[in-house]
Amino acid sequence: MQDHVVIIGTGLAGYTTAREFRSLAPEARLTLVTSDDGVSYSKPMLSNALRKGQTAAELAQASAEAMAESLQADVLTGVDVRAIETQTRQLVFDDGQLDYDLLVLAIGADPLPLPFEDRSDGRVHQVNNLQQYAAFREALGDEGRVLLVGGGLIGCEFANDLAEAGYGVDLVYPEELPLPALLPGPAGQGLAKALQDLGVKLHPGCTVETVERHGEGVRAQLSDGTGLRAALVLSAVGLRPRTDLALEAGLDVDRGIKVDRFLATSDDSIFALGDCAQVEGYSLCYVAPLTNAARSLARTLAGERTAVHYPVMPVTVKTSCFRIVAWPPDHDASGRWQHNGTGADLRGEFRDSAGVLQGFYLTGKRIRERMALSREMPPLIAAGVDAGTDPETGGDRE
Ligand SMILES: Cc1cc2nc3c(=O)[nH]c(=O)nc-3n(C[C@H](O)[C@H](O)[C@H](O)COP(=O)(O)OP(=O)(O)OC[C@H]3O[C@@H](n4cnc5c(N)ncnc54)[C@H](O)[C@@H]3O)c2cc1C
Repeated sequence: MQDHVVIIGTGLAGYTTAREFRSLAPEARLTLVTSDDGVSYSKPMLSNALRKGQTAAELAQASAEAMAESLQADVLTGVDVRAIETQTRQLVFDDGQLDYDLLVLAIGADPLPLPFEDRSDGRVHQVNNLQQYAAFREALGDEGRVLLVGGGLIGCEFANDLAEAGYGVDLVYPEELPLPALLPGPAGQGLAKALQDLGVKLHPGCTVETVERHGEGVRAQLSDGTGLRAALVLSAVGLRPRTDLALEAGLDVDRGIKVDRFLATSDDSIFALGDCAQVEGYSLCYVAPLTNAARSLARTLAGERTAVHYPVMPVTVKTSCFRIVAWPPDHDASGRWQHNGTGADLRGEFRDSAGVLQGFYLTGKRIRERMALSREMPPLIAAGVDAGTDPETGGDRE
């Protein structure tokens, strides 16, 4: 009898693992369990779908039934896994149980709690899945002003998208410049200017203190005393890996569910990948790492223990007003930035005292230099001794 492989989660991590595994193990018993509707979609498209006029239905790529058919798997939808009984290898639901031999946690991340007092009667939105995008779009209507909270990747992408789609946008963030985790000064200034040129009103150095209902929309109070009105609020203040299920099952958890280079948790029949996982210390909540992880995990599940390979995977920011690819240095890296270029075409390199490249950013036409810079850097997790990983695969997909 082959192992029964169960995957919790039908996001990109769950479905990509299932697809890779099925291609290696055509006969194996495979079940996916999800608390949502199991519709397959590409989450990165949520933050540039408005300018293309795409509805949630248009972003849906396949229903749960179609995925079950193509994967030759059971896909159980609307099922919230409440607990993992590691001794008996069982998942516990509200109205039943499911046995597993090998379990994959692909349960994603939750938006961080709202950092302000919300008295808006449901006019504050967060978009971290297709259903939330559908609700946001419906509430948004065809015109109006949106108050966007958070100047990180998702906040900046939505600001760009909303402005290009013709909406008014106020973007509020506590730092001096947008995208501070990814970009040093000159590139942050370039992005700020490009967003302003698009009509986005920036509120740097500010936080939102309260949001309350005002007529059909909202009124917000900022920390600098400014009062703003908008049709609704979109909060994009970051994500937190979902770890409760793993923690309650006794698995090791840190910022995410801790796994080694084989994607194994502290229980060797349970694996994790995607936004919920912390792989050898790295919590990388984007697509390229989970794609690499899914490929190697599928081999391990199929019986060929395979370590993940993490090359440097630069982040592509989908701000069409100012195109950016970046790989930031570690927080504790010492060295200095060197900036080159003019206008929208910039290149920045962060090198340590020995001249070793530790991070970079590229904008506009300089983006074509990303492969050369990526290759100059050592991989985050080198290909292991176990067969099967290909050092040339992976990297930036978006
Ligand atoms: C707006 C936006 C734009 C983005 N843009 C980019 C981009 O341009 N490039 C890029 O690389 N990355 C981007 N990302 C990040 C990227 O989309 C994510 O890293 C990736 O989609 C995460 O996939 P996942 O499968 O790990 O998690 P999710 O897609 O969150 O899937 C989690 C799954 O687990 C299920 N689940 C959770 N708990 C339970 C439970 N207890 N029981 C049953 N089921 C459960 C959920 O129902 C869901 O099916 C973006 C993210 C957002 C929000």
